[in-house]
Amino acid sequence: MEMEKITSFTVDHIRLVPGVYVSRRDMAGDTVITTFDIRMTSPNDEPVMNTAEVHTIEHLGATFLRNHGEWKDRILYFGPMGCRTGFYLLLIGEYESADIVPLLREMFAFIASYEGEVPGARAKDCGNYLDMNLPMAKYLARKYLDEVLTDIPDFRLNYPD
Ligand SMILES: [Zn+2]
Repeated sequence: MEMEKITSFTVDHIRLVPGVYVSRRDMAGDTVITTFDIRMTSPNDEPVMNTAEVHTIEHLGATFLRNHGEWKDRILYFGPMGCRTGFYLLLIGEYESADIVPLLREMFAFIASYEGEVPGARAKDCGNYLDMNLPMAKYLARKYLDEVLTDIPDFRLNYPD
């Protein structure tokens, strides 16, 4: 069976750098869904994140987003990319990458300074609750905040041509 290459595989991952990108926009009925590519490491260029810290960022990020006063009703999904270089965030509505930078700054600052038990990190609540690394999650959140989200330039908001 001949299968078409899906859109996200057509992005030049060699030239892709950490940033915030619109991966795609889809119609669900008459509602636009925007999928963001929250790219935290440079693909095929630097080490990927380990699963434990990815898992911790997922739990903390999802908890933050679904409790956010302004955005919670527009959050459809937040979760990791299988390649462990970033996350996907799906929002209900049509957005540009710059629209969510303030939200992401808040979210990664929340993760970077988080103390205490990781939400949902219990056997009853999660499929692999011991697989968590809060110190590394905080380190990576701080790094992304400082090196990418603070004073983010245009080339980190638009996929390479
Ligand atoms: Zn989990």
